[in-house]
Amino acid sequence: MKQIISLGMGVQSTAIYLMSSMGELPRADHAIFSDTGKEGAATYQYLDFLLGWQKENDGIPIAVCRDRNLHEDLLNAERPGRFTSIPAFTKNDDGSVGMLRRQCTAEYKITVVDNYIRDHIYGLSKGSRRPKTQIWHGITLDEIGRMSQPYEAWKINTYPFLGQMTFKTEATERLSWARPMTRSDVVQWYILQGLPIPPKSSCVFCPYQSDKAWALKKKHSPEDFRDAVRIDEAIRNSTAKGIHNPVYLHRSCRPLATIAFDVIKEEEWGECSGNCHV
Ligand code: SF4
Repeated sequence: MKQIISLGMGVQSTAIYLMSSMGELPRADHAIFSDTGKEGAATYQYLDFLLGWQKENDGIPIAVCRDRNLHEDLLNAERPGRFTSIPAFTKNDDGSVGMLRRQCTAEYKITVVDNYIRDHIYGLSKGSRRPKTQIWHGITLDEIGRMSQPYEAWKINTYPFLGQMTFKTEATERLSWARPMTRSDVVQWYILQGLPIPPKSSCVFCPYQSDKAWALKKKHSPEDFRDAVRIDEAIRNSTAKGIHNPVYLHRSCRPLATIAFDVIKEEEWGECSGNCHV
């Protein structure tokens, strides 16, 4: 059965890629990264490093998919047409703040990886049934709540850091070759190996960010922050997509460029399931 690493370019999934390439885990067949168009500059630098490392160390082949560009699509949000929403914020008619449905992870990441597997790994035509395939995800013990069942019968979600596999039937099986680890164990592993630690990966405009994360981006990655401001302005008027009140990246429903971020308050933020942030 094919073993595919869902490479999100964050700390955990990149560690799975490196461990598998180095023989510390069984060797997977492929790693696939779906680039939604605007990860942080540090993530693209790390991707360059990883592609070089792969060549020098006979690492598992990495496919970088750029079939769909969420950044471009959001910049053109005023165009009529189908709208894939990110978890941005808007005020309801009663003044309360609501979050839009998150469709971006499924459409710009999970589906892109699934299509790559169908088209390039198995060479199948659209609509063909894919053979059973293990998809490896970099979820660590401290994030066990993010483990999920696949929606498709051909996928077996495989969690090397949890020691579990999940199936569409909702069955769960123990993974015999697991390497249970927390995120901080994984960080220690990079340090012991002398490997650079990847930055947290996500779209620069992802609304799943605490004030502290926004403030750090504004201070240390001003170009990424400017990109986020451009998206914030581009999505404000999404009436062509059927959203009648203004849309914002920040949950205060104020323009990103004008916000004095509260860096003291530590906030817990949900994260995408699937391939974002890991
Ligand atoms: S990082 Fe955020 S904006 Fe990007 S695909 Fe994931 S949820 Fe959507």
